[in-house]
Amino acid sequence: MPGRYHIITYGCQMNVRDSETLAGLLESMGYRPADRPEDADVVLVNTCTVRESADERAYGRLGELRRLKQRNPGLVLGVAGCLVQKDREEVLRKVPHADLVFGVHNLHRLPELLRQVHEGCQRVYEVWDRRPKDEPLPALPAVRRGRVRAYVNVIHGCNKFCTFCIVPFVRGRERSVPPEQVVAEVRELAAQGFSEVTLLGQNVDSYGHDLRPRTDLADLLRQVHEVEGIRRIRFTTSHPRDMTEKLVRTVAELPKVCEHIHLPVQSGDDEVLRRMHRAYTVADYLRTVDLIRRFLPEASLTTDLIVGFPGETEEQFENTLRLVEQVGFDACNTAAYSPREGTKAATFPDQVDEQTKQRRLWALNQLAERVAYARNRALVGTVQEVLVEEVGRGGLLGRTRTNKVVTFHGPPGLVGQLVRVRIREAGSWVLRGEALREAVLAG
Ligand code: SF4
Repeated sequence: MPGRYHIITYGCQMNVRDSETLAGLLESMGYRPADRPEDADVVLVNTCTVRESADERAYGRLGELRRLKQRNPGLVLGVAGCLVQKDREEVLRKVPHADLVFGVHNLHRLPELLRQVHEGCQRVYEVWDRRPKDEPLPALPAVRRGRVRAYVNVIHGCNKFCTFCIVPFVRGRERSVPPEQVVAEVRELAAQGFSEVTLLGQNVDSYGHDLRPRTDLADLLRQVHEVEGIRRIRFTTSHPRDMTEKLVRTVAELPKVCEHIHLPVQSGDDEVLRRMHRAYTVADYLRTVDLIRRFLPEASLTTDLIVGFPGETEEQFENTLRLVEQVGFDACNTAAYSPREGTKAATFPDQVDEQTKQRRLWALNQLAERVAYARNRALVGTVQEVLVEEVGRGGLLGRTRTNKVVTFHGPPGLVGQLVRVRIREAGSWVLRGEALREAVLAG
């Protein structure tokens, strides 16, 4: 039965990582990858629902795939991910041509669900509300893209319930992966030749509070740091409420852990933060920034920001602009607030009109770009350690320890190597440089 598969992924790094697991499960069944859905026997769409536009994109793509299914009735079309978890019956109604619909807690069941499809079940549907509490998180096979950097899930779900966010409803409560399981996965990646791992979690700084014996991210970083062959370690996403001095000191102390902290602030106004249920004030956030700058003066700091949250006044929005300027973020992921059904903020009566949201988003993006450019310009003339990831259009492409993208000319054989690069030009998003002679750093 096995043939070829193609996976279409929307959304965040967690979803990218889930798609790697889906690929791993399919390959363990004997399927091989296809570059295009047209060449595949199984097409899976792994959806995201963090914003309304993500829903629309997934439904749009699934609509297009109906034609492919008409041309090739033997094709198995599956829909997975957060949109399924949220919409359930609506997905069944809107995508009647899907053979298989399964939720985020059912990924590991893919082989069994596909078997049911092949045995002639009309439509296979399985969406668990949550994974059974006493069932351990299974170590599943995964197929990674490339051979340089890989994501490793260390904690699933979120307990925070920010009023704008759908994640706790679709991904469930926090569940940490036991440290020995994380370390085993990292060892396996090192054996496969990966140089860099990113420890992933919606709230990665909460890692370990639910494990017995209790542990934390700082201790996990120490264990991962021991794995031979791994040269760089990152982690994301941090929450300002959970970032501790112990964690920051640990990052500063361990040479393999890179100096980049992604610390979503969401707004620069205390009242908006309160209504978002973020559980910190702007002053708290700035104290954490000071802590990071004290122990990691070279670190880059990136963030997420939402404009047009319900009730956000012009003055409150300007407080966000002020904060961006004051902190000097290296990059900002920005978004206009998008109400998500089922979340508290979607019921707030004082929704901001679309035009105002878009105007604020434009102004914020202008400022964020200017601030990022200033940060990058300061690097011109410096020598950075770059891990080369791939051959891009403008030459080799890699990242600094601070997660800045650098392009430079060099032979393809440098992919996977740490190279010393002098930065010659800066843009807001990309740096250009040239490799130094004797550029390759020993492993
Ligand atoms: S911390 Fe807030 S924004 Fe982040 S995943 Fe949890 S609920 Fe969503």
